[in-house]
Amino acid sequence: MRRPFIAGNWKMHKTVSQAVALVDELIELVGGDQGVEVVVAPPFTALYPVAQRLKGSNLKLSAQDCFWEEEGAYTGEISPPMLADVGCAYCIVGHSERRHVFGEGSDEVARKARALLAHGVSPIVCVGETLDEREEGRTIKVVGSQLQGSLEGLSQKDMVKVVIAYEPVWAIGTGRTATPYQAQDMHAFIRGWLGDSFGGGVASSTPILYGGSVKPDNIRGLMAMDDIDGALVGGASLKASSFAQIIEGGKG
Ligand code: PEP
Repeated sequence: MRRPFIAGNWKMHKTVSQAVALVDELIELVGGDQGVEVVVAPPFTALYPVAQRLKGSNLKLSAQDCFWEEEGAYTGEISPPMLADVGCAYCIVGHSERRHVFGEGSDEVARKARALLAHGVSPIVCVGETLDEREEGRTIKVVGSQLQGSLEGLSQKDMVKVVIAYEPVWAIGTGRTATPYQAQDMHAFIRGWLGDSFGGGVASSTPILYGGSVKPDNIRGLMAMDDIDGALVGGASLKASSFAQIIEGGKG
């Protein structure tokens, strides 16, 4: 039985004081046991103060990205052991904004995922096709190859700690959500792919999240689908009230 999983990606939003205010509101609203894995991903600058506030709550901390080396002359980068040290249980890797704005490829995503796992941080590995790729009928091919590349070198044992997020690029921040049926088709494909690559145990236990304009009014329809285990939420996670409503809807 997979536990519902709702993660909020704050992207490049919130100063430290704004982040602390948001997390304090969230703790008030949903800090107890919701029967849902609730995760927040503030920007790097707010990880430490948010981690302090999360102590004693059921909310978990995630980073939005990392580099794969442990330390060294990599100006501007943050390493997996630094994220573990600050209290991150999760780190998003391969978000479409990293892939499309910063030109990151699946081979880099896999290096990051392996490095995170070596330090006990669970990667939330994002995949998803662009609108052109969907319209050209290449969705399955693109997502299959992103999965192959982004999970390269991971073992069956590693996969116990991995979360997958299917985020069609055309639905991120656009207000245009995939229908529950479009999303379910892709989640079923991803679960099948996990089964073929890592076995039935991994396929049935891996949480697969949907991301792309998730809101309080569409979460229930998505969660009603067999292979949708939760959501990676961008814009609607920036307000405590809307994120709390999504968590409520995530209970199914
Ligand atoms: C995201 O950032 O992963 C995302 C899905 O954003 P939004 O919910 O704003 O579309």
